[in-house]
Amino acid sequence: MNLNKERFKEDYQRKLVSLFAEDIKEASKLHKFIALGELIKEYSFENWLRTNKNYINSDRKQVYYFSMEFLIGRLLENNLINLGIRDIVKVGLEDLGISLEELEMEEKDAGLGNGGLGRLAACFLDSMATLGIAGHGNGIRYKYGLFEQKIVNGYQVEVPDNWLKDGYVWEVRRRDKACIVKFGGNVRFTEEDGKLKAIHENYESVLAVPYDIPVIGYRNEVVNTLRLWSAEIFGAEFDFSSFSMGDYQRAMEYKYNVESITSVLYPDDRTEKGRLLRLKQEYFFVSAGIQSIIRTFKKKGKPITELYKYVAIQINDTHPALAVPELMRILIDEENLPWETAWDITVKTIAYTNHTIMAEALEKWPIDMFKGLLPRIWTIVEEINRRFCMELLEKYGQDWNRISKMSIIGDGYVKMAHLAIVGSHSVNGVAELHTKILKEQELKLFNEHFQGRFNNKTNGITHRRWLIEANPRLTNLLIETIGDRWIKKPEELIEFKKFAKDGAARDKFYKIKQQNKIDLAKYIKNKYDIDVDPESIFDIQAKRLHGYKRQLLNALYILDLYNRLKEDKNLEISPRTFIFSAKAFPGYTLAKEIIKFINTLAQKINYDEDVKDKIKVIFLENYGVTLAERIIPCANVSQQISTASKEASGTGNMKFMMNGAITLGTLDGANIEIKDAVGEENIIIFGLTSDEVINYYKNGGYNSKEIYSSNARIKRLVDQLTNGFLNVPPTEFLNIYNHLITYNDEFFVLKDFESYANAQERIDKLYRDKGKWNEMAIINVAASGRFSSDNTIIKYAREIWNV
Ligand SMILES: *Cc1c(COP(=O)(O)O)cnc(C)c1O
Repeated sequence: MNLNKERFKEDYQRKLVSLFAEDIKEASKLHKFIALGELIKEYSFENWLRTNKNYINSDRKQVYYFSMEFLIGRLLENNLINLGIRDIVKVGLEDLGISLEELEMEEKDAGLGNGGLGRLAACFLDSMATLGIAGHGNGIRYKYGLFEQKIVNGYQVEVPDNWLKDGYVWEVRRRDKACIVKFGGNVRFTEEDGKLKAIHENYESVLAVPYDIPVIGYRNEVVNTLRLWSAEIFGAEFDFSSFSMGDYQRAMEYKYNVESITSVLYPDDRTEKGRLLRLKQEYFFVSAGIQSIIRTFKKKGKPITELYKYVAIQINDTHPALAVPELMRILIDEENLPWETAWDITVKTIAYTNHTIMAEALEKWPIDMFKGLLPRIWTIVEEINRRFCMELLEKYGQDWNRISKMSIIGDGYVKMAHLAIVGSHSVNGVAELHTKILKEQELKLFNEHFQGRFNNKTNGITHRRWLIEANPRLTNLLIETIGDRWIKKPEELIEFKKFAKDGAARDKFYKIKQQNKIDLAKYIKNKYDIDVDPESIFDIQAKRLHGYKRQLLNALYILDLYNRLKEDKNLEISPRTFIFSAKAFPGYTLAKEIIKFINTLAQKINYDEDVKDKIKVIFLENYGVTLAERIIPCANVSQQISTASKEASGTGNMKFMMNGAITLGTLDGANIEIKDAVGEENIIIFGLTSDEVINYYKNGGYNSKEIYSSNARIKRLVDQLTNGFLNVPPTEFLNIYNHLITYNDEFFVLKDFESYANAQERIDKLYRDKGKWNEMAIINVAASGRFSSDNTIIKYAREIWNV
């Protein structure tokens, strides 16, 4: 946008006065931040209005990305970069004696998601706006985001994330665009003009109020919308002032119950807890989202039968799968279309992204709960299933085994993945390996039945946040060496490869990494009073804590290294700082025990005179987008060590490579594609392959006790968990012990240990050759362009949405 420094300064000072009746001298940092945020938001308004008008007046297809989670992080810096006014604002504020960096720290990290899935949704919004695709987000405005993690005495403690406490500058409440969502009641059928008509009655109405957040494209004047819904009481039924509910106490309780629909994000990454409130949340934002799409569409004056030509709905995992029956409901009950026509439109409109193959994470709902909460939707799902099973019967004959395996309703449950597959024209996995496993194993029957419906769209990350914003030093080096064309065309980062063998470029790259590491070392010193050596290898594993992600493998290796250093005082190693950052689901005992284990190791190692100059262990609390931006640019080693076949894609792996870390990883998810991109000499691979893992799961043959008893190195480690070596009670890590030994090591930690330790030795040696290491790092940065979410979105646009 067009802005000069003087105008900005005037605007800013006026904003402070108009919002708070304060000038710069009086205003607190928070107020200064809010004034800046409000001003920047206002700067986007003209383009926002124009973008919206343009969408309504043109015939362009609108894409709606439905996601239960948007892990947005902070937006100030992002918006300044995308508007192209960061430098002017920075200098303008400096004139006024204000530091932009300091104000940026005032912004709350919007953590409306758990991890990769929610962050993917946020990256996709940024890419859609930047590519000029009419793509909008649809989700929930949780009053409390993902819990804040504190580490107390080595344990995770969860604190509510009251992120809306001081208001949210980026949103605009649109009460006039509210919708009504209906829960409960009963359905009866009558005949009307010879047609069967469903009547839903005795339901409870909840008001869905949208809060819109502008999604600003990169220097292209496009501003799309992220619409988040909030639950409120519906006035017509509930007139507060007249106390129509009879008594005030009950009225307040009712209000509390309604608002609780959008009050908390479920802090659960992969499994379904089967709670009624969660199902309510899902229907709530899906129903409101679809109603609002239909309302917007109808303004165009096109026939509803052409909906699919103008609207595409992408559902992020199965949480929004109720979009299928909800769209059917509206088309049939409100638009009076016959079933077949409605079904044809629905399938052509909706597409589904699958994120997991872990059976225990596949979402399903008890029929009774589903029917009670969503009686009309239930009758539609029943009919979808009846027709689908008839289709199967016709095609395969009386193959009841197959039909029961594919049925949407079965064993007392509604299976959301089946509903999503049957109701979509596209089903995509999120990395090549993941899609292959879906097609050939987990969803084989569906892939056979729906030829051509399954496809791959490897995840991506926005290089604007994860490189330009997170790593300005590296960004400057890139611009200095290869220009700035890669900003618009990220594949052109490959030009940087030419500098991999250039001594001067390598030195510059190394210095930048060092400066970033020095910054992080200061942060660690300030926050935890621990000295870490910026010359040491920064070896980082930052992601949700989960058994399959195997933080335990990393930690056991550190214990092993510690044992060896204690045994042999002369053991030569490249000094290393092992950094962890991870939140565990509050009810996941094993994960929380692993956090305590890592912190216990840290206590033992960091203060041991014998090893303290060689290794350090740091656990950074409260992993989130903001912390990720701080630590990823400092990594030398990126740990991506999930049990092969378990990590659908991973996106953390891409962020680290883009910042020049070398991946230490298994052949899992997108690690495989990273290996293809950088070449096997520029990545460190270890461990079982997915075929081997799947084979063990299917046919058995793995016995962790055998490894334990035959391998003295491993036996020592496992014994140290419970023999008092770690200065904790012997039962402290009993769950970990049982997981590894009693329950046969579900994620093959012991099986992969030797291979992992060897890979770590290779890294130790490689890092001694700085020239070689920097060459590898530069090649990683250069090859990362293909993982920009711009590329991912271009593929969705061409191959799924047809825009
Ligand atoms: C990218 C990201 C993730 C996903 O990390 P994975 O390593 O792919 O699991 C999780 N949390 C945050 C805050 C992220 O930025």
